[in-house]
Amino acid sequence: MSTANTQALPISVSHVTKTYGAVHALDDVSLEIESGEFLTLLGPSGSGKTTLLMVLAGFTRPDHGSLKFGDREVIRTPPHLRDVGMTFQSYALFPHMSVAGNVGYPLRLRNVPKAEIAERVAGALETVQLGGFGERRIDQLSGGQRQRVAVARAIVFEPRILLMDEPLSALDKKLRDQMQIELRSLHEKLGMTTVYVTHDQREALTMSDRIAVVNHGRIMQLATPRDLYEKPANRFVADFIGDSTFLPVTRRGQQIVFEDQPLNHAAPAPEAPSLLLMARPERIHLLTGTPQERMNTFEAVAQQVIYQGDSYLLNAQLHNGEIMSLRGAVRQGTVDGLPSEGDRIRLGLAPEDTVIIDGRES
Ligand code: ADP
Ligand code: MG
Repeated sequence: MSTANTQALPISVSHVTKTYGAVHALDDVSLEIESGEFLTLLGPSGSGKTTLLMVLAGFTRPDHGSLKFGDREVIRTPPHLRDVGMTFQSYALFPHMSVAGNVGYPLRLRNVPKAEIAERVAGALETVQLGGFGERRIDQLSGGQRQRVAVARAIVFEPRILLMDEPLSALDKKLRDQMQIELRSLHEKLGMTTVYVTHDQREALTMSDRIAVVNHGRIMQLATPRDLYEKPANRFVADFIGDSTFLPVTRRGQQIVFEDQPLNHAAPAPEAPSLLLMARPERIHLLTGTPQERMNTFEAVAQQVIYQGDSYLLNAQLHNGEIMSLRGAVRQGTVDGLPSEGDRIRLGLAPEDTVIIDGRES
């Protein structure tokens, strides 16, 4: 976690609720964000991400709840007094102004002297690698450059908190991948507490110190990328992040069983009315010889192999009809050696990869 900015502030959201008619955009949200942390709100469209960001920025007043920046309660503080920089879901740049005009706007709002504005705008443009672009018009810029102007405008007054709402969603994949790394390095450099919104799970995993998974205005889980992927709190989180096979399992005494077969699992199973085995496709082995001791094995019939360039997917049907999907790396020769449709095969899952989760959707 970055601590470069001693000015960074922790954020404390507590019991925040916002309704629009019958819609609970935010449903009793509580969240502690550490000073200097890069935290991502990840969730499907309509889950409440933008609403939460707007509450943090001060553009939306919640029905209930409290919001603190450091020790200061700010729920009644207007946006321009919150010391928050924000990029909006649309770029929201002023098309008729130059790049420098756009970036300098927050400083003019704050009555910063002209000479200082010029200097700070130049600095912010350098930071986002747009040095020398000040006189360009917005419509002369590419999507990636416009996005960087929006970031420069958000950071030019050196806010202690930076909020970004799906800043990369309009960009194509190559540029998005590159900008993810750029924004992350910018965060390392400036160290401000950052709340980032995306619906893209890979983007969230790539960029974040921690991720809050949001659904129906509630936080389903708040965890590091690795914990989220490896120990999802429920089926919604497991399904939203990565691919998985889910098998219904039950508790029998001390054991977790799948179809009468006791499973070896490294982490304890949660207490929940329904349980699922979550198997990530890249953790499943195609067994040929004798499996390692304690490895869970599943008899199956091979279905199709799907070639995807860097990897392949092999679907296999278990006795109970469930499909297990296995993903393997494509190396010289591996694809040619794979089973054909109808072959009897055996799949293996190590205890560490045999994750038992709460089977409920939320
Ligand atoms: P997200 O950013 O995750 O896509 P939003 O926070 O924009 O989700 O929206 C959450 C829910 O609140 C949605 O159902 C949306 O339709 C509703 N909503 C958001 N803003 C308004 C508004 N100004 N008026 C009415 N409903 C709104
Ligand atoms: Mg949104």
